[in-house]
This record gives sequence, C-alpha cells and structure tokens, in this order.
Amino acid sequence: MSKRDYYEVLGVSKDASESEIKKAYRKKAMKFHPDRNSDDPNAEKKFKQASEAYEVLGDSEKRQRYDQFGHRGVNGSNGFGGRGAGFEDIGFEDIFSRFSDIFGGEFGGGGRSRGRRSTGQPGADMKLRIELSLEEIAFGTEKKLKVKKQIKCDECNGTGAETEEDFETCGTCNGMGEVRQVRKTMLGQMVNVQPCPECNGDGRIIRNKCSKCKGEGRYQGKETVKVKVPSGVSKGNYITLRGKGNAGKRGGEAGALVVLIEEKEHEHFERDGNDIYYDLVLSVPDAILGTEVEVPTLKGKAKINIEEGIQPGKLLRMSGKGIHGLNRSGVGDQYVRVNVYIPKNLTDEELEHVEALKGTEHFDAENKEDDGKGFFNKIKDVFT
Ligand SMILES: [Zn+2]
Ligand SMILES: [Zn+2]
Repeated sequence: MSKRDYYEVLGVSKDASESEIKKAYRKKAMKFHPDRNSDDPNAEKKFKQASEAYEVLGDSEKRQRYDQFGHRGVNGSNGFGGRGAGFEDIGFEDIFSRFSDIFGGEFGGGGRSRGRRSTGQPGADMKLRIELSLEEIAFGTEKKLKVKKQIKCDECNGTGAETEEDFETCGTCNGMGEVRQVRKTMLGQMVNVQPCPECNGDGRIIRNKCSKCKGEGRYQGKETVKVKVPSGVSKGNYITLRGKGNAGKRGGEAGALVVLIEEKEHEHFERDGNDIYYDLVLSVPDAILGTEVEVPTLKGKAKINIEEGIQPGKLLRMSGKGIHGLNRSGVGDQYVRVNVYIPKNLTDEELEHVEALKGTEHFDAENKEDDGKGFFNKIKDVFT
C-alpha cells in the first residue's frame, strides 16, 4: 500500500516552518488520541500516521531527505523502525516517550505508560463474539452487550482502600514503586530496575482494605457495554473498544474489549460482498403469462414485475436494495434469481391439459424464439 504524503497527513504546506509542523502534529495527536476515541477504530491508525509524519518532518535532516527522495529517503536503515513499516507496529508508550517534549505531562500516567511509574496494574483485554443478521449488517446497528468482567469498585473508587487515610508510603521503595539492584558484570556495572515486590509498584500500601473488593479495587461482575457497528461489516472484522475490557487492579487502566463480528445465516438471502441474492420460484403459468410478485428485501417486502415468458436462470436486479458498504463505499444491489417449478404427480385432469399442449406451435422447443443471446442467457434486468 502506498503511503500518504507526510505534509498532507499533518495538513501543512511544503514550506511550513518547524513550529507550524509541531503545532499541526500536536493538534492531530490530541484529536486522534486513543484515550479520547475509544469507539473509533480508525483513530489509532490516524494517530500513528500523524506520529510517523512528525517523526520525519519534525527533524530537519530527515525532512530534507524526505523532500529529496520521498518515503524511500526516510524508511529502512536510515529511517526509523528498520522494518520500513513505520509506526504501524509501535506501541503508544514508545510514541509518547519519543515525543515527550510535545506531550509533556498531558498524557501518560493512568497506567498507559508502563515504563514509567504508574498506579495499579492494567486490566486484561478481552474478546467477545457477536452474531449479526444481514439486516443489521446492511444498515449498521448498535448492540448492548452484557459483559462478564472485572469492574472498577464503586465503594473505594478503584483504590482498594477503605478511606484515603488508609494509604501508607511503602517503606521498601520509599514510595518510588521500584527497586534498583546494582550488579557487576563483564561489561561493567548494570543497574536493574524492578517493580517493588512489597507494593507491586504502587509506591504505597493499604492499611485498611476496602471490604467490598478486598483491596483489589475491582470485582467480578457484569456490565452492559454499547457497541456501534457500522454498516457493511463482515465475518472476521473486529471493533476495539479501549477501556471497556477488565478494570485494572487498584486504579490501573482498564483493558480493551475486542468485539469480533460473526454473520448469521439468513433464511432468504445469500451475501456476495455488498450484494445479496434471492431465489424466486415461479409456477409454470406465472412464468409464461407474467405476473407481479412480492419478494422479501433487507427492508421489508417489495413488489417486482415478472415479464411474460421469463426464463429460468434470469437475474433480476433490484438496484440499491443490498448492503450499505463499509466506510460509505456505496450500496449493493439485490439480485432475484428466477426459478420455475415443474410440478409432479399431476391429477388426470391436469395431465390432460398438459397433454393437449404437447406439440402445439409455441410449446415445441424446436420453435423456441431466439433473441440472439442464446436460450439460457442470464441477462440482468434492472429495477429501481
Ligand atoms: Zn514499594
Ligand atoms: Zn473497593
């Protein structure tokens, strides 16, 4: 996939000043910050794109190379990452620490910056499958999910302590949350920093634990989570809801809830991308004489006209009656496949009628009308 122009990503002109670029990036990063866009799966991507663009344009040397050689000039061994993949696979922590001068203390803490001192432990991510009907997929839907998970304790507001006075600075780490060990190795002195084992990195210990959550700051429960599903999704798509997974321990950041999309089989329709197919079965007389029939669509019933002498296998197109595509990629159609039912086990009277037709001029297949496209053509007729 070709990369977007970095100037375009940040929305600045090619001769933008250093401070203009910095300002533009800061604005984008704030707008698409993952903590502020928990229900927009595209925000993370945009945030990373902006960060990648700033990594280059915010550095005069890299910017010059980029102006001269384009993306080739800054990816690979001379650029960042080394994989040439840009920021796609880089975690947020790395981005925040890389551009700490831009973000200052604004983001961080809250458990997201794992490298730094933070309170509590982050909650685990969780996965959930939802089965959607074609109707729900066609127009998008909002689902309310009952999720069994760790919930932040409302009694102690997630702190795990009975009251705010029940905290005590950890004596082992003096409130730092980490302990340092100095080791002598062949390469010289190595400093090993680890979370404090006494307070689990919290920097403080609890004298009186909250009775509801036993000091965990969370408990096992059920919560209703709303998830907005855009139209046009298909099996295998997923929606990431940041902060909707398991609550963190003692105020730690909640994990993500990943919602996997499954598709329910439909009693009438088959799906092909944004189009749907419906099998219509006509009686022999209706196929011969023509008629008007009612067919199901994704939005109620609709009438279609059957021209006289319609052939089995013909596809009738109902324009715009399909699935509304993902990201406004257009609307599909509904196709009606014409089948003709040939009856069996006729009564004597019925048989007499059919016998009488045998060999008459228009019932003789030898005399079939040839419209130049062959008998078993599958021309698509358009309804609107
Ligand atoms: Zn400690
Ligand atoms: Zn509690």
